[in-house]
Amino acid sequence: MPLDLVIQHARIVLSSGTVEGDVGVEGGRIVELAPRIVEPTRETVDAFGLHLFPAAVDVHVHFNEPGRTDWEGAATGSAAFAAGGGGCYCDMPLNSSPPTLDGPSFDLKRVALEASSHTDFGLWGGLTPTNLDRLDELADRGVVGLKAFMCSSGIDDFLWADDATLGRGMETAAKRGLLVGVHAEDPQLTGELAATAIAAGRTGIRDYLASRPVAAELKAIETAIRLAEQTKCKLHIVHVSSGRGAALVAEARRRSVDVTCETCPHYLLLTDEDMVRIGAAAKCAPPLRDGAERAALWGALLRGDVDFVASDHSPAPWSLKESQNFFSVWGGIAGVQTTLGLLLAEGCGGLGLPPKRIADWTATAPADRFGLTTKGRIDLGADADFTLIDLGTSATVRLDELRYRHKITPFVGHTLGGTVRATFVRGRAVFANGKIVGPAAGRLVRPTITSAR
Ligand SMILES: [Zn+2]
Repeated sequence: MPLDLVIQHARIVLSSGTVEGDVGVEGGRIVELAPRIVEPTRETVDAFGLHLFPAAVDVHVHFNEPGRTDWEGAATGSAAFAAGGGGCYCDMPLNSSPPTLDGPSFDLKRVALEASSHTDFGLWGGLTPTNLDRLDELADRGVVGLKAFMCSSGIDDFLWADDATLGRGMETAAKRGLLVGVHAEDPQLTGELAATAIAAGRTGIRDYLASRPVAAELKAIETAIRLAEQTKCKLHIVHVSSGRGAALVAEARRRSVDVTCETCPHYLLLTDEDMVRIGAAAKCAPPLRDGAERAALWGALLRGDVDFVASDHSPAPWSLKESQNFFSVWGGIAGVQTTLGLLLAEGCGGLGLPPKRIADWTATAPADRFGLTTKGRIDLGADADFTLIDLGTSATVRLDELRYRHKITPFVGHTLGGTVRATFVRGRAVFANGKIVGPAAGRLVRPTITSAR
């Protein structure tokens, strides 16, 4: 029997380092890695001069399908992701309508994404005060984790979790071996500061920044860690924005708390002054921080205190971003297409890191943490999810090259390291020669649960 596909002459980015050779694919999986594969094959791709990276695993996106596809949708969102070297994303439970809070809403989203997604995907379930009795349904269906907001989410049908809710949800999650992911900002502190500013008519960008201080993030991270320690629940802090936040996670880990954290390209590449300069396209929560905090976050990422990088791709139409009152501008940064390229420019280009470090942040570490055992690495038996990148070139982020439904991003003008020539999911090209290759054939991926209590 011939192989389905052989990628020849690639610089293969393994967890151990880069080697030159061929990659053989059969039945959607990597079955051979060798300096030269001589067996017959149905298809060959000559990757001479190109790096073969594991396709990115982005565990934090909001594609808003079903129900708010006018904000993005999986068709455009996953196309953008594939064009940026992505192979598997995990969609957040909110900003879709209905939010993913029970079995039927999970099923609706799964059907919608299977019909429109170009890459594979996992689904988060929500953890809110209204669905504590539905968490087992979500676990049964194979959510990658349960996501809770510790402050207002901005979405009426996704309520924030007070400490009691979070604790009870963590109890269930721990029993099921599931991870809980939290948006960590303290509700009292952010709520009071925002209310005071708005009441006084202080509604500019700097007022918004002042209403969400690092202290609010630290207080919430401490609370989440305490609850995870009490319930023995696996905890993941999403989009950590500050070096001090990452330090709290590192300190808890030294006490053997099972906690990880991610950050996003916008916290690594942009500062609060960029938010003031760029405006609505750079609004996010937690907000962008000052240069010192940004530098500390880089230090934490390089030390391994921040585990990996996710985009938190959170798009919206311009109509929701136009307001004189910055508090009422819809927050969220679109970035699912540019994460890998921005990190290659900063990490390999700027800092001189080996490609395997970037592959770990963008693919291997997130796949490992979320139990996506077939994803995230170039290895025998793994899904043949990889992206061919010409690291000898670079590009600049331009709005007209973004495949998002709404061409909005704060990264315009930033350098992308390398050019994505092709992206494969389970051995099939989903992006090649600048074009998406259809049909959309993304599949649901479920986590392998290793340790239920
Ligand atoms: Zn998010």
